[in-house]
Amino acid sequence: MPFRKRTGAEIRQEFIDYFVEQRHTFVPSSSLVPGGDQTLLFTNAGMVQFKDVFLGTDVRPYRRAVNSQKCLRVSGKHNDLEDVGLDDTHQTFFEMLGNWSFGDYYKKEAITWAWDLLTQVWGLGKEDLWATCFEDEKGEIERDDEAAGYWREQPGFDPTHILFFGRKENFWEMAETGPSGPNSEIHIDMGPSHCEMEDDPAHTCGVNVPGCTRFLELWNLVFIQYNRTGPRTLEPLPSKHVDTGMGLERIATILQGVDSNYKTDLLSPMMDAIQQLTSHDDAQREENLTPYRVISDHARAATFLIGDGVVPGNTGRNYVCRMIVRRAARFGGKIGLHEPFLARVAETVIDHYGAIYPEIVRNRATILENLTREEKRFARTVEAGVAKLESLFARTRASGQSVLSGEAAFDLYATYGLPFEITRDIAREQDLEVDETGFKSAMDGHRLASGAGDAFGALGDEGVEIYRELLAELQSQGLIGPEGVAYDPYQKLEVSGPVLALVRDGQAVSTVEPGERVEVLLPETGFYVASGGQVSDTGMIVSAGAVPWAIEVEDMRRPAAGAIVHVGRVSAGQPRLGDQAIARVDVQRRRDIMRNHTATHLLHAELHAVLGEHARQAGSLVAPDRLRFDFTHPEPLTDEQLARLEAGVNRDILENYRLDIIFKPLEQAISEGAMALFGEKYAETVRTITIGNRGSTESSAGDQAPLFSYELCGGTHVNETGDIGIFLITSESSVGAGLRRIEAVTGRGAYQLIQSRFRALNEAAFMLDATPDQVPEKTRLLIEELSENRRQLISLQREQVAGEFVHSLENVPTVAGVAVLAATLPGADVDTLRLMADRFRQRYPSGVAVLASVADGRPTLIAAVTEDLVKRGLHAGELVKFVAQPLGGGGGGRPTLAQAGGRDSSKLAEALASVPGWIEERIQAEG
Ligand SMILES: [Zn+2]
Ligand SMILES: [Zn+2]
Repeated sequence: MPFRKRTGAEIRQEFIDYFVEQRHTFVPSSSLVPGGDQTLLFTNAGMVQFKDVFLGTDVRPYRRAVNSQKCLRVSGKHNDLEDVGLDDTHQTFFEMLGNWSFGDYYKKEAITWAWDLLTQVWGLGKEDLWATCFEDEKGEIERDDEAAGYWREQPGFDPTHILFFGRKENFWEMAETGPSGPNSEIHIDMGPSHCEMEDDPAHTCGVNVPGCTRFLELWNLVFIQYNRTGPRTLEPLPSKHVDTGMGLERIATILQGVDSNYKTDLLSPMMDAIQQLTSHDDAQREENLTPYRVISDHARAATFLIGDGVVPGNTGRNYVCRMIVRRAARFGGKIGLHEPFLARVAETVIDHYGAIYPEIVRNRATILENLTREEKRFARTVEAGVAKLESLFARTRASGQSVLSGEAAFDLYATYGLPFEITRDIAREQDLEVDETGFKSAMDGHRLASGAGDAFGALGDEGVEIYRELLAELQSQGLIGPEGVAYDPYQKLEVSGPVLALVRDGQAVSTVEPGERVEVLLPETGFYVASGGQVSDTGMIVSAGAVPWAIEVEDMRRPAAGAIVHVGRVSAGQPRLGDQAIARVDVQRRRDIMRNHTATHLLHAELHAVLGEHARQAGSLVAPDRLRFDFTHPEPLTDEQLARLEAGVNRDILENYRLDIIFKPLEQAISEGAMALFGEKYAETVRTITIGNRGSTESSAGDQAPLFSYELCGGTHVNETGDIGIFLITSESSVGAGLRRIEAVTGRGAYQLIQSRFRALNEAAFMLDATPDQVPEKTRLLIEELSENRRQLISLQREQVAGEFVHSLENVPTVAGVAVLAATLPGADVDTLRLMADRFRQRYPSGVAVLASVADGRPTLIAAVTEDLVKRGLHAGELVKFVAQPLGGGGGGRPTLAQAGGRDSSKLAEALASVPGWIEERIQAEG
């Protein structure tokens, strides 16, 4: 070998050092979780952290950068998961080395340094290196002769080793629009023996030849010089950038002279650690390469994921982490590793990577604990899951099918924790497939059903186990009752007690720092937990002890039976486990919610009164700023119905009914006619809310039936309906067949609405120089005046056109003895054109006129032919069609008068000029 053997760590460091020497700033790898980029699940390239710089929305204190970026390709377009383990090159996690210029150096330096580093520092053979440059197969974008020219200048570079390729290989674009530019790739010739297609007589080895493994792409230099603004438009960028990328594992295989990424010292220590755990000899290790590779790769990926805060979970990124850990655990089972073992492999990862990626050292305990806990969870269910899967496979085969349904695969995940990817692995081992699309839609459906709609939800439906364990512990210590957290959102808007648990990222912790997201468990709470359409309360938890701290509560959730937790963020100080705390509901917001909830009951009752008993509740939202009520009704409500509804609810408010809230057996409530929601689960004893009196004869509104509302409801309500203040309907719409939706505001929200309407009305009144009451009448008069003015304007325009037309009438040329006028009348509408055509016929008893005008780029034509010429074979309809044809239009009409329209006015002059020729031809033909 011509070069000194280097470790992976040395290669990484030499790359960084080389560019630091060229005045680059070393920028540490960004997290695997892309900051602020919702389009991307994981960082999958070095440029992710610099995207904003290229888009021009961010500037950095440096213009040259070098880095080694952690990347994960396990979902989306770049997904290598299925191939991991099967060959020497595929990995989910990898490192990308890159150097960057932000509007600083360009092609010359990038190429010179790449060549220098590869050949002088690392000693690669110059004769083995090839460079590809861009040549557009469509011929739209300039060929990159600039880059090719710099390649030719490199000392010892063989100029015949420059190859040109098209867009797929050598043109880079960030997205459909935005930064883009040509790239130049460096390939290395590994020698003919490396080609796996050696035996194929049709194969000729070469760079970018499909299937040829003799040539490997080593380094991609991207030159960002355009901004794509449309499918065929590229604009030059004011400043040009360089973005390069080289896979660390690939360069390591070459510099270490091995034929597999898994034989480089970047992955072999994990392979060795697994061998130690299994006590295999080398031959057994060779026989089991697939499990070895999968475990090595996945353990490394999971270590870095958990190090970046992505712990195993049920949705989004957390799901990916769970899937990777479980997949590694299952492959462990294949080589006899049944006890939790991944933490041991992860320790090797931390030992080998900790120096350059300190976050995995810092989070060592979290990483190891999470791996072991996840393996234990999986072990509990995996056997039952696999047994169930086997019976499903047997059934699939028996029915002559080869694809397992996505629903079944999702059921295995939901019930036994078998991630889709594992089900698919097992299926493929038995020559079966699994319906991935079906799985995804079943999973989405589940997420919607469980209300965790957001795939990136930080918490998802996580935490059941941790809270079960926490509750059991707190109960055994007598810190919390057998029922769990005492819950009274009706009486207690403020409670105090010790902090019983702090949970951060799914982990119980003893303290949290300012800015951190945390879940807080107290012995009791008065914060309402979202249910029955009413949203959760927000508020504050503050220290009741000597050391102040505060947590802003943004949400509430009930992760497990008896566990009610406050979800929030530390806004000050460091809350600690055991601290005395006071939890205060945001009372103002809560009162808004209560007004809206009680108003919802009133609206429901009034809907029955106005529309009938069929108008049943089909869904509702009770928020602080508005209420929304969906109900069954076949058609839009009339304005009159809406007015009656609104008036009815406001009358109920002014009657100031007291709310009667009584707990009673479910059966009794139902038999008394309480309104229950279809599909809602109710306990034996239910809470009932009654407003008004059944069958009461006294009524303040004469013909209106008195209010009677009787509902099963766990929500929070005002004491008396008068507390609602006022109720205003803001919209009525359809939300599906036979389903209507009403949105409304009450109390403060209604007041704000009234205020803003008043302001608008006053402003309008001021502009109209009127009182608000005069606004409608004044506006009507103004509109009338405006249309009268418009009429006058049109008639003036006509007179003007006519005036000018009189001049053209004086000098009409004759064609074969016939007066022929073909003219454009700017600004004339169709009626004016007709009018002018009449004028022409009055002036010339024997003649032909074609008059045109253009509005919004579209021409309009009128053709008029006098009676005597009709008898001689001239037809206005035929003429106007002939003229309109080149304008992309058509038309027709009577022999004496016809009209046409067109789409393209650019040929109008030409079309009008063809009129005399047409007439001459016709008259001659008729003789
Ligand atoms: Zn080949
Ligand atoms: Zn209710």
